[in-house]
Amino acid sequence: MVDPGRKFWRDGELVDWSEQGFTSLLTHTLHYGVGAFEGIRAYRRADGNTYVFRLREHIERLYDSCRLVMIDPIVTIEQTMQGCIDVLRSNGMDDGYIRPMVFLGPGAMGILPLQNPVVTFVVAWSWGAYLGTDGLENGIRCTISAYSRHHIKVAFAKGKLNGQYINSVMAKQEAKKSGFDEALMLDVNGYVSEGSGENIFIIKDGTITTPPLSGSILAGITRATVIALAAEEGIPLAETPITRDQLYLADEVFLTGTAAEVTPVREVDHRKIGNGARGPITERLQQRYFDIVKGSDDSHPEWLARV
Ligand code: PMP
Repeated sequence: MVDPGRKFWRDGELVDWSEQGFTSLLTHTLHYGVGAFEGIRAYRRADGNTYVFRLREHIERLYDSCRLVMIDPIVTIEQTMQGCIDVLRSNGMDDGYIRPMVFLGPGAMGILPLQNPVVTFVVAWSWGAYLGTDGLENGIRCTISAYSRHHIKVAFAKGKLNGQYINSVMAKQEAKKSGFDEALMLDVNGYVSEGSGENIFIIKDGTITTPPLSGSILAGITRATVIALAAEEGIPLAETPITRDQLYLADEVFLTGTAAEVTPVREVDHRKIGNGARGPITERLQQRYFDIVKGSDDSHPEWLARV
């Protein structure tokens, strides 16, 4: 189990970890999955200080997710942002993964949670490379899942919503049990959508392509970061649908996510991508990303919140 330190944050206050069992078996979100969460990383940078990466964007997405499912947190965006910083500080964590969540507490037990209390909490723990340090350098092996990504008429692709993750958990579990590192999912029309917890980019003849936000993908914050960095590096990028065969025939493929960072893909469904190693454009963008989040590239101070 991960070590969440001695404190967590709940609705504006730091609370002792011993109180983590504060909620009830009748917690609405536990029964029906209506809740929203985030995953954020903080890094110790080359200057010795700790910074949360794109904190405001993550908390704004958390509140957008809440809006989609008509949950109204009792704390503000600013309070929740401060909660993330307070959890890191009070636990003496100089890097870590931060997990804010908004859930519906006990009350009505039917599927109509009109009066249930809304609870916002933040916990943090230390988390290394999500898809392995070897994966960051040499690339990972993926498979296209038998599960399709949620259709936009069925669920909220733009929400990071608790119950929707059954789809990702099943895809990931089956991919791992079949010997792959990660699952990629197609949308119901057969276009490539995203990984179980990552956005996807392919590169062909020097041009990067990633599925558009109008598809069934999460609006990844790492995705937005990489799009900005590609523009700065002068690498052409298109946000257009990708087919399975375009994926198999790409020169390079990489995944982006707060947990996964920028991870190269070296194989999809037993087909080698490019020459089966991290490609040069992937490496360039990955390097920029790591230089910004934990190195000494100071070109984007607006993305860094000092702890
Ligand atoms: N897609 C899904 C389904 C995810 O769970 C995540 C992780 N939050 C992402 C994409 C990547 O988003 P981000 O870069 O904001 O972490």
